[in-house]
Amino acid sequence: MRAAILHGPEDLRVEDVPAPEPRGDEVLVRVDAATTCGTDVKMWRRGHPILPPYPARFGHETAGTRTDTGERVLVGDSVACGACRPCRAGRPQICRDPRWVLGGFAELIAAPPAALHPVPDGLDAAGAAMAEPLAAAVHAVDRAPAPAIAPDAGVLGGGPMGQMIAALLVAEGRTVTVADRHAERRVQAEALGAAAAEALADHDVVFEAVGRPEAWRAAVGAAVPGGCVVFAGGCAAGSDAQLPTRPLHYDELDLRGAFHHAPAEVDRALALLAEGAVDWRALAAGPIELDALPGALAAGNDGPARKWVVLPR
Ligand SMILES: [Zn+2]
Ligand SMILES: [Zn+2]
Repeated sequence: MRAAILHGPEDLRVEDVPAPEPRGDEVLVRVDAATTCGTDVKMWRRGHPILPPYPARFGHETAGTRTDTGERVLVGDSVACGACRPCRAGRPQICRDPRWVLGGFAELIAAPPAALHPVPDGLDAAGAAMAEPLAAAVHAVDRAPAPAIAPDAGVLGGGPMGQMIAALLVAEGRTVTVADRHAERRVQAEALGAAAAEALADHDVVFEAVGRPEAWRAAVGAAVPGGCVVFAGGCAAGSDAQLPTRPLHYDELDLRGAFHHAPAEVDRALALLAEGAVDWRALAAGPIELDALPGALAAGNDGPARKWVVLPR
Protein backbone atom coordinates (compact mmCIF):
# COMPACT_ATOMS: atom_id res chain seq x y z
CA MET A 1 0.00 0.00 0.00
CA ARG A 2 0.98 3.65 -0.32
CA ALA A 3 1.78 5.49 2.88
CA ALA A 4 3.45 8.71 3.98
CA ILE A 5 6.38 7.76 6.19
CA LEU A 6 8.43 10.13 8.33
CA HIS A 7 12.11 9.14 8.18
CA GLY A 8 13.32 12.09 10.24
CA PRO A 9 12.72 15.81 10.69
CA GLU A 10 11.48 17.27 7.38
CA ASP A 11 12.13 13.91 5.70
CA LEU A 12 8.70 12.69 4.62
CA ARG A 13 8.48 10.10 1.86
CA VAL A 14 5.43 8.65 0.18
CA GLU A 15 6.30 5.05 -0.55
CA ASP A 16 5.04 1.51 -1.04
CA VAL A 17 5.08 -0.34 2.26
CA PRO A 18 3.54 -3.57 3.55
CA ALA A 19 -0.03 -3.24 4.81
CA PRO A 20 -0.17 -2.88 8.60
CA GLU A 21 -0.45 -6.20 10.43
CA PRO A 22 -3.32 -6.02 12.93
CA ARG A 23 -2.05 -7.06 16.34
CA GLY A 24 -4.20 -8.46 19.12
CA ASP A 25 -7.73 -7.10 18.81
CA GLU A 26 -6.90 -4.59 16.07
CA VAL A 27 -8.94 -4.32 12.89
CA LEU A 28 -7.91 -2.94 9.50
CA VAL A 29 -9.56 0.24 8.27
CA ARG A 30 -9.33 1.40 4.66
CA VAL A 31 -8.70 5.15 4.88
CA ASP A 32 -11.28 7.22 2.99
CA ALA A 33 -9.98 10.62 4.13
CA ALA A 34 -7.45 12.04 6.54
CA THR A 35 -7.07 15.69 7.45
CA THR A 36 -3.92 17.59 8.36
CA CYS A 37 -3.48 19.64 11.48
CA GLY A 38 -0.89 21.84 13.15
CA THR A 39 0.33 18.84 15.12
CA ASP A 40 1.23 17.11 11.84
CA VAL A 41 3.31 20.13 10.86
CA LYS A 42 5.10 19.95 14.23
CA MET A 43 5.66 16.19 13.77
CA TRP A 44 7.04 16.74 10.29
CA ARG A 45 9.27 19.64 11.32
CA ARG A 46 10.77 18.44 14.59
CA GLY A 47 9.25 15.13 15.68
CA HIS A 48 6.82 14.76 18.55
CA PRO A 49 6.68 12.91 21.90
CA ILE A 50 3.88 10.60 20.68
CA LEU A 51 5.55 9.66 17.38
CA PRO A 52 6.93 6.11 17.31
CA PRO A 53 10.62 5.75 16.39
CA TYR A 54 11.55 6.55 12.76
CA PRO A 55 10.52 5.42 10.20
CA ALA A 56 7.14 6.48 11.56
CA ARG A 57 3.61 6.48 10.21
CA PHE A 58 1.51 9.46 11.24
CA GLY A 59 -1.79 11.22 10.59
CA HIS A 60 -4.28 11.25 13.47
CA GLU A 61 -7.49 12.64 11.92
CA THR A 62 -8.69 9.63 9.99
CA ALA A 63 -12.00 8.36 8.65
CA GLY A 64 -12.45 5.13 6.76
CA THR A 65 -14.22 1.84 6.30
CA ARG A 66 -13.64 -1.29 8.37
CA THR A 67 -12.39 -4.03 6.10
CA ASP A 68 -14.14 -6.70 8.22
CA THR A 69 -17.64 -5.23 8.62
CA GLY A 70 -17.81 -2.46 6.00
CA GLU A 71 -18.84 0.02 8.70
CA ARG A 72 -17.82 3.66 8.19
CA VAL A 73 -15.79 4.81 11.14
CA LEU A 74 -13.78 7.66 12.54
CA VAL A 75 -10.48 6.25 13.77
CA GLY A 76 -9.93 7.98 17.10
CA ASP A 77 -6.28 8.80 17.70
CA SER A 78 -6.03 7.33 21.18
CA VAL A 79 -7.45 4.83 23.61
CA ALA A 80 -7.17 5.62 27.30
CA CYS A 81 -5.84 2.92 29.63
CA GLY A 82 -8.90 2.96 31.88
CA ALA A 83 -6.81 2.19 34.96
CA CYS A 84 -4.71 5.24 35.80
CA ARG A 85 -5.80 7.90 38.28
CA PRO A 86 -7.24 10.39 35.70
CA CYS A 87 -9.05 7.55 33.91
CA ARG A 88 -10.57 6.36 37.19
CA ALA A 89 -11.61 9.97 37.89
CA GLY A 90 -13.49 10.11 34.57
CA ARG A 91 -10.91 12.18 32.71
CA PRO A 92 -9.61 9.86 29.98
CA GLN A 93 -8.31 12.81 27.93
CA ILE A 94 -5.42 13.14 30.38
CA CYS A 95 -4.77 9.41 30.67
CA ARG A 96 -1.22 8.69 31.86
CA ASP A 97 -0.75 5.74 29.51
CA PRO A 98 -2.85 6.16 26.36
CA ARG A 99 -2.41 3.92 23.33
CA TRP A 100 -1.90 6.28 20.38
CA VAL A 101 -3.33 5.31 17.01
CA LEU A 102 -1.38 7.06 14.26
CA GLY A 103 -0.98 6.34 10.56
CA GLY A 104 -3.94 7.94 8.78
CA PHE A 105 -1.78 9.16 5.90
CA ALA A 106 -1.88 5.73 4.28
CA GLU A 107 -4.26 3.50 2.40
CA LEU A 108 -4.81 1.29 5.44
CA ILE A 109 -4.54 1.72 9.19
CA ALA A 110 -4.75 -0.86 11.97
CA ALA A 111 -6.74 0.27 15.00
CA PRO A 112 -8.22 -1.24 18.17
CA PRO A 113 -12.04 -1.33 18.08
CA ALA A 114 -12.10 0.94 21.16
CA ALA A 115 -10.69 3.73 18.98
CA LEU A 116 -13.47 3.48 16.39
CA HIS A 117 -16.58 5.67 16.28
CA PRO A 118 -19.45 5.08 13.85
CA VAL A 119 -19.88 7.88 11.30
CA PRO A 120 -23.44 9.22 11.02
CA ASP A 121 -25.14 8.77 7.66
CA GLY A 122 -24.75 11.71 5.34
CA LEU A 123 -21.45 12.89 6.78
CA ASP A 124 -18.55 12.79 4.29
CA ALA A 125 -15.34 11.02 5.26
CA ALA A 126 -13.47 14.36 5.21
CA GLY A 127 -16.04 15.85 7.58
CA ALA A 128 -15.86 12.79 9.80
CA ALA A 129 -12.06 13.09 10.05
CA MET A 130 -12.53 16.61 11.37
CA ALA A 131 -14.51 15.24 14.30
CA GLU A 132 -11.16 14.49 15.95
CA PRO A 133 -10.06 18.15 16.25
CA LEU A 134 -13.65 19.30 16.76
CA ALA A 135 -13.89 16.96 19.75
CA ALA A 136 -10.94 18.82 21.28
CA ALA A 137 -12.83 22.07 20.68
CA VAL A 138 -15.95 20.56 22.28
CA HIS A 139 -13.81 19.63 25.26
CA ALA A 140 -12.30 23.13 25.51
CA VAL A 141 -15.76 24.72 25.48
CA ASP A 142 -16.90 22.24 28.14
CA ARG A 143 -14.08 23.47 30.36
CA ALA A 144 -15.54 27.02 30.31
CA PRO A 145 -18.38 28.36 32.45
CA ALA A 146 -21.87 27.98 30.94
CA PRO A 147 -23.18 30.64 28.53
CA ALA A 148 -25.44 32.17 31.23
CA ILE A 149 -22.37 32.85 33.38
CA ALA A 150 -19.97 33.75 30.57
CA PRO A 151 -22.06 35.14 27.68
CA ASP A 152 -19.17 37.05 26.14
CA ALA A 153 -16.25 34.98 24.87
CA GLY A 154 -12.94 35.86 23.28
CA VAL A 155 -10.90 33.42 21.24
CA LEU A 156 -7.22 34.19 20.82
CA GLY A 157 -6.00 32.60 17.59
CA GLY A 158 -7.99 32.09 14.41
CA GLY A 159 -6.38 28.85 13.24
CA PRO A 160 -8.49 25.73 12.77
CA MET A 161 -8.82 25.13 16.53
CA GLY A 162 -9.77 28.75 17.24
CA GLN A 163 -12.31 28.72 14.41
CA MET A 164 -13.85 25.47 15.68
CA ILE A 165 -14.08 26.77 19.24
CA ALA A 166 -15.64 30.00 17.95
CA ALA A 167 -18.21 28.08 15.89
CA LEU A 168 -19.27 26.08 18.96
CA LEU A 169 -19.51 29.22 21.10
CA VAL A 170 -21.62 31.00 18.46
CA ALA A 171 -23.91 27.94 18.29
CA GLU A 172 -24.40 28.25 22.06
CA GLY A 173 -25.62 31.82 21.61
CA ARG A 174 -22.58 33.54 23.10
CA THR A 175 -21.16 36.79 21.78
CA VAL A 176 -17.79 35.81 20.33
CA THR A 177 -14.74 37.77 19.26
CA VAL A 178 -11.85 36.04 17.49
CA ALA A 179 -8.47 37.78 17.48
CA ASP A 180 -5.84 36.96 14.89
CA ARG A 181 -3.19 38.94 13.05
CA HIS A 182 -4.09 37.28 9.73
CA ALA A 183 -6.82 39.20 7.91
CA GLU A 184 -7.96 35.99 6.13
CA ARG A 185 -8.65 34.33 9.45
CA ARG A 186 -10.59 37.33 10.73
CA VAL A 187 -12.77 37.09 7.61
CA GLN A 188 -13.34 33.37 8.32
CA ALA A 189 -14.35 34.16 11.91
CA GLU A 190 -16.84 36.76 10.72
CA ALA A 191 -18.31 34.28 8.27
CA LEU A 192 -19.18 31.92 11.11
CA GLY A 193 -20.90 34.63 13.11
CA ALA A 194 -18.14 35.95 15.36
CA ALA A 195 -16.71 39.44 15.53
CA ALA A 196 -13.06 39.76 14.56
CA ALA A 197 -10.30 41.84 16.09
CA GLU A 198 -6.53 42.08 16.26
CA ALA A 199 -6.54 41.84 20.06
CA LEU A 200 -8.95 40.89 22.86
CA ALA A 201 -10.09 42.77 25.98
CA ASP A 202 -12.64 42.31 28.76
CA HIS A 203 -14.21 38.93 27.99
CA ASP A 204 -16.03 36.72 30.49
CA VAL A 205 -14.10 33.78 29.15
CA VAL A 206 -11.00 33.74 26.95
CA PHE A 207 -9.85 30.71 24.95
CA GLU A 208 -6.17 30.59 24.11
CA ALA A 209 -5.81 28.73 20.80
CA VAL A 210 -2.35 29.78 19.66
CA GLY A 211 0.03 27.75 21.80
CA ARG A 212 2.71 30.34 22.50
CA PRO A 213 3.73 31.68 25.91
CA GLU A 214 3.12 35.29 24.87
CA ALA A 215 -0.41 34.34 23.80
CA TRP A 216 -1.01 32.68 27.17
CA ARG A 217 -0.08 36.00 28.80
CA ALA A 218 -2.29 37.96 26.45
CA ALA A 219 -5.21 35.62 27.18
CA VAL A 220 -4.86 36.23 30.92
CA GLY A 221 -4.80 39.97 30.24
CA ALA A 222 -8.00 39.82 28.20
CA ALA A 223 -10.30 38.33 30.86
CA VAL A 224 -12.63 40.39 33.07
CA PRO A 225 -12.20 40.23 36.87
CA GLY A 226 -13.68 36.94 38.01
CA GLY A 227 -13.40 35.59 34.47
CA CYS A 228 -12.01 32.36 33.14
CA VAL A 229 -9.17 31.53 30.76
CA VAL A 230 -9.11 28.18 28.95
CA PHE A 231 -5.74 27.18 27.52
CA ALA A 232 -6.43 25.07 24.45
CA GLY A 233 -3.13 25.71 22.66
CA GLY A 234 -0.17 23.52 23.57
CA CYS A 235 3.18 25.32 23.66
CA ALA A 236 6.49 23.79 22.57
CA ALA A 237 7.98 21.33 25.06
CA GLY A 238 9.78 23.05 27.90
CA SER A 239 7.91 26.35 27.46
CA ASP A 240 7.39 28.59 30.41
CA ALA A 241 4.73 31.30 30.43
CA GLN A 242 5.22 34.16 32.87
CA LEU A 243 1.77 35.17 34.04
CA PRO A 244 0.93 38.32 36.02
CA THR A 245 0.06 37.41 39.61
CA ARG A 246 -2.18 40.37 40.33
CA PRO A 247 -5.27 39.37 38.28
CA LEU A 248 -4.88 35.74 39.33
CA HIS A 249 -5.15 36.67 42.99
CA TYR A 250 -7.03 39.98 43.24
CA ASP A 251 -9.38 39.32 40.32
CA GLU A 252 -9.80 35.61 41.05
CA LEU A 253 -9.21 34.57 37.47
CA ASP A 254 -9.97 30.95 36.86
CA LEU A 255 -7.24 29.33 34.69
CA ARG A 256 -8.02 25.99 33.11
CA GLY A 257 -6.12 23.71 30.80
CA ALA A 258 -7.97 21.91 28.01
CA PHE A 259 -6.29 18.94 26.40
CA HIS A 260 -7.53 16.39 23.91
CA HIS A 261 -10.99 14.85 24.30
CA ALA A 262 -12.99 12.00 25.76
CA PRO A 263 -14.69 9.38 23.55
CA ALA A 264 -18.14 10.84 24.24
CA GLU A 265 -16.90 14.20 22.96
CA VAL A 266 -15.83 12.56 19.70
CA ASP A 267 -19.36 11.22 19.25
CA ARG A 268 -20.79 14.65 20.01
CA ALA A 269 -18.47 16.22 17.45
CA LEU A 270 -19.57 13.69 14.82
CA ALA A 271 -23.22 14.52 15.55
CA LEU A 272 -22.57 18.28 15.34
CA LEU A 273 -20.86 17.85 11.97
CA ALA A 274 -23.61 15.60 10.65
CA GLU A 275 -26.30 18.11 11.73
CA GLY A 276 -24.38 20.92 10.04
CA ALA A 277 -24.07 22.79 13.37
CA VAL A 278 -20.40 23.18 12.52
CA ASP A 279 -19.49 23.67 8.86
CA TRP A 280 -16.37 21.59 8.26
CA ARG A 281 -16.20 22.73 4.63
CA ALA A 282 -15.21 26.23 5.79
CA LEU A 283 -11.87 24.77 6.91
CA ALA A 284 -11.33 22.16 4.21
CA ALA A 285 -8.61 22.65 1.60
CA GLY A 286 -7.91 20.28 -1.26
CA PRO A 287 -8.58 17.40 -1.56
CA ILE A 288 -5.01 16.32 -2.25
CA GLU A 289 -3.37 12.97 -2.88
CA LEU A 290 -0.74 11.47 -0.59
CA ASP A 291 2.03 12.61 -2.93
CA ALA A 292 1.08 16.25 -2.29
CA LEU A 293 1.26 15.90 1.50
CA PRO A 294 4.96 16.83 1.92
CA GLY A 295 4.42 20.08 0.05
CA ALA A 296 1.22 20.84 1.97
CA LEU A 297 2.96 20.40 5.33
CA ALA A 298 5.97 22.41 4.20
CA ALA A 299 3.64 25.29 3.30
CA GLY A 300 3.07 25.66 7.06
CA ASN A 301 0.23 27.21 9.00
CA ASP A 302 0.18 30.77 7.66
CA GLY A 303 -2.68 32.37 5.75
CA PRO A 304 -6.26 31.24 6.16
CA ALA A 305 -7.16 28.56 8.70
CA ARG A 306 -7.30 25.39 6.67
CA LYS A 307 -7.01 21.67 6.95
CA TRP A 308 -5.86 19.70 3.94
CA VAL A 309 -8.12 16.82 3.06
CA VAL A 310 -5.91 13.90 2.01
CA LEU A 311 -7.47 11.13 -0.06
CA PRO A 312 -4.95 8.27 0.08
CA ARG A 313 -6.54 6.18 -2.67
ZN1 LIG B 1 -5.04 17.20 14.97
ZN1 LIG C 1 -5.49 6.06 31.86
